[in-house]
Amino acid sequence: MKKNSKKINFKPTYSELEKRLEENKRELLIKSEEVELLKASFLSNISHEIRTPMNAIIGFSSLLKYPDLNEEEKENYIEYINLSSNELLKIIDNLVQTANIESHDIYINRRECCVDDIFDDLYRLYKNKNGNHNVDLILKIQNNEKRLKLITDSGKLKHALSNLIDNAFKFTSDGFVEFGYTKNNNKTLKFFVKDSGIGIPENKLDVIFNKFIQVENTNTRKYCGLGVGLTISSSFIDLLGGKITVESTFGKGSVFHFTLPLKPAASNIDYYTENN
Ligand code: ADP
Repeated sequence: MKKNSKKINFKPTYSELEKRLEENKRELLIKSEEVELLKASFLSNISHEIRTPMNAIIGFSSLLKYPDLNEEEKENYIEYINLSSNELLKIIDNLVQTANIESHDIYINRRECCVDDIFDDLYRLYKNKNGNHNVDLILKIQNNEKRLKLITDSGKLKHALSNLIDNAFKFTSDGFVEFGYTKNNNKTLKFFVKDSGIGIPENKLDVIFNKFIQVENTNTRKYCGLGVGLTISSSFIDLLGGKITVESTFGKGSVFHFTLPLKPAASNIDYYTENN
């Protein structure tokens, strides 16, 4: 230290320390109250989300017992039971995946897959599922190469896309849901899911990827959902080497996109299994 230099003392006083401690305590209390509220609304959501398809399954299967049903009625009831069972499976799957993400217990199984097959499957699934005639489903693929191959975990990619498409339909009552991909260059593909729905307020765009966050107030909420779909999609896309982003105009619609490498980065190559 120089001979004449003065040592400046930045030590806080006792009362300053006490004040900071109080502020930290208050912040922690607010945060833990917010977490408790989110937990409570999640638990009441789960109960509602599970009961709705369960009631449909119980109700329609007991109706099937009536002997004087005609064939068309029987088929309709079976269709409702099928749809509700798949709904229930999806809820359970999303809950299991959320728990796995929490405990970092996710296994990525990379293999060579045909990206067009994934999109054809999703298009067929949602074309059949879409009961709203005011919403058109559009598949848009910008790529000249036929049956393009991608090395990725196709199950995780499909799950991530299907959560985004589910949301697009859920929040759109009129217009379109469009999804697809563009081949950016020889290294990456850009995926997107776009809708002409209710849109997302600008101040919520950052937080919707957090667990249990839903834009609508829970008391007045008219849309179903557990608030974990986007968390799962963004975690899976991260693991596959991409990053999800969203653009939205409140009242007009939203578009979610992400880019994935055609081949995994060298650091991820050990996860890639070609033959099994
Ligand atoms: P949820 O089960 O509630 O759909 P998500 O995690 O999938 O849970 O989405 C979180 C929230 O983000 C939704 O509740 C909704 O408020 C908002 N959101 C997601 N996708 C869309 C969309 N396409 N249009 C409008 N809002 C959306």
